[in-house]
Parts: sequence; C-alpha cells; structure tokens
Amino acid sequence: MYHLKWPKLSAATLVLVLYWQAVLGSVLSPYKNPWTGSRRRNVNLDEEGWQEAPCGTNTTYRDSGLQQLVASLNSSHNRRRQFIPQQTYTFNVVWQVIASNFTYEGGWLPDLYIQAQMEQLNRNYEGTGISWVHTDTVRTISPYWHESIDSSSGTFGLRSAMYHTLKRGGATTMNVYTLGFTKTGINGYSTMPDRFLIAPTLDAVGIRFTTLPLGNTVTHESGHWLGLQHPFDRGCDPGDGVYDTPAQSREIFGCPIGENIDSCPDQPGLDPIHNFMEYTDDSCRTHFTPGQVEFMHTAIQTYRMNAVGEARN
Ligand SMILES: [Zn+2]
Repeated sequence: MYHLKWPKLSAATLVLVLYWQAVLGSVLSPYKNPWTGSRRRNVNLDEEGWQEAPCGTNTTYRDSGLQQLVASLNSSHNRRRQFIPQQTYTFNVVWQVIASNFTYEGGWLPDLYIQAQMEQLNRNYEGTGISWVHTDTVRTISPYWHESIDSSSGTFGLRSAMYHTLKRGGATTMNVYTLGFTKTGINGYSTMPDRFLIAPTLDAVGIRFTTLPLGNTVTHESGHWLGLQHPFDRGCDPGDGVYDTPAQSREIFGCPIGENIDSCPDQPGLDPIHNFMEYTDDSCRTHFTPGQVEFMHTAIQTYRMNAVGEARN
C-alpha cells in the first residue's frame, strides 16, 4: 500500500514563515509613491474616507533601462510628428481562471465572457499595431488562491506559488489570472515588462473576475504589462514619461466630464480623464494616446522581443 508522506513542518517553522510574511508585508507594502507621496490605497483606507484604488500595480521600474527609455523618448521626440505604427505585434493571451467552485459567483467564468472580453481588448487597441490572440484557457479550482491573492507583497509567496504551478508561455504571452480579490479593493494588477528579465515566471496580470466581460481593467493592466505608467504616478514633474499625456498630479475617479480638472496648471492640457491608464470609470476611459502607443512599441522591442524581433522565451 502506498503511503503519502507529508513534509514535516514544525510549529517553529510555521511561526517563522508567518513572521517573515508579516515583516515583508510591512516593509514592502503599502507602496509609497516617491513623487506624489501618496500610498497605495486599499479597502481599509477607504473606511477612513479615502477612495480605494482600482489598480494595485507598482509602476516603479526595477530596471534602469526602462527609466532610460523614458528619458530618450522624451529628449529625442519631435512633438509635431504623430507616431504611426509601422510594426505590428500580436501577443498570446492565456486566461487563468482561478475559481472557488464551479459557479459564476465562485469565479467560474463562462467562455462567452472571456471571448467578449478578448473582442473588447482588441477593439481598444485598434490602430495601435498591437493585437491579442486568445490561445488557451486554464481553469483551476482553488478557494484559497481565489480569495487570498492580491497585489500586495504580503501575498507575494502565494502568488509566486500559483505562477510557478500554472504559468504558460514566455515574454509574448500575457497570462491573465482572474481572481476574487475578496480582501482588497483593487480590480487588477500587473507586472511591468522589465520584470520579465529578472523573474520571468512572475510576469503576469491579475484581474477581478467581475470586471468581465466588458470592463476596461484588462486593457489598463495590459498597458502596464507593455510598460505604461499611470499619468499621475510621478506628479506634474517628471510625469509619466509620455509626451502627449497632459501632466496630472493625482488620481481622478468617476467621470468628471465638464469639470475641466487641471491639477498641473503650469503645464499644458487638462487632466486626461478619458485615458485607459486613468482610475476613472470604465465608460469614461476610451483611448491610448499616440505617445503611449509609441512608448509601448519601444518597450516591446526592449523587453518582449530580442534584437531581431523574435520573442524572448
Ligand atoms: Zn494601473
């Protein structure tokens, strides 16, 4: 008879693991934005009157290459010329459905929702030279992952375990994990593309499953996955590194059409409330700018393709 042998985990080891998770969580999260001074906001802060952030992406670049990319695009760019994509890129999308059970409420998304979301994603990228093809759906029942995983570093170990178990493809495959985010206020998170060079297995997107089938969360997070920051991430100066997104000093929620919000009055343009990389409502977000498309193309060449245009694996 075969006996399943369980690894021996002493109480002391368990305490040590929990302690380190707490220490790492307190050191690495909440992420404080060095430019605006604001902290990543979560559902707990919302009770104190803060608006919760829909996105948990830490847009701080880990690789100085992406920072240099921002600088070079800005210094070399002829602002009178509009970027017209010459190159086209198609990325694979693997949907990783992480559900608690086989019901929709438990996160078991219908195929039709995924199909509709793919169509919406491609509509949003029309004219950018970037498109997405649905290559696979992987379905996993795990109440623990569905409920516990979020964008914070406190669950980094948990996320890592999920990615190591399930992740498919290389640098040109976007794995989208649909999760419950039941303990957090976010709708999604992504890694930035420079992350792929450091830890390819952790290169992925996570979204709240209820944002399907027609939400813009996947579009927003795919923008991060291709290198974009939020327009407000670095305040009025230096800004997000994109020449044609007007400077913005703080997040905007809802859809304040007609309010002409201008949080950086010394710089041109009103705050870009209709940009996909904003925190405004889904119905309010309608486009990427040509500068953002150019930035994504440059980031793709730098981080997701090699010098001859082939996919990194
Ligand atoms: Zn974001």
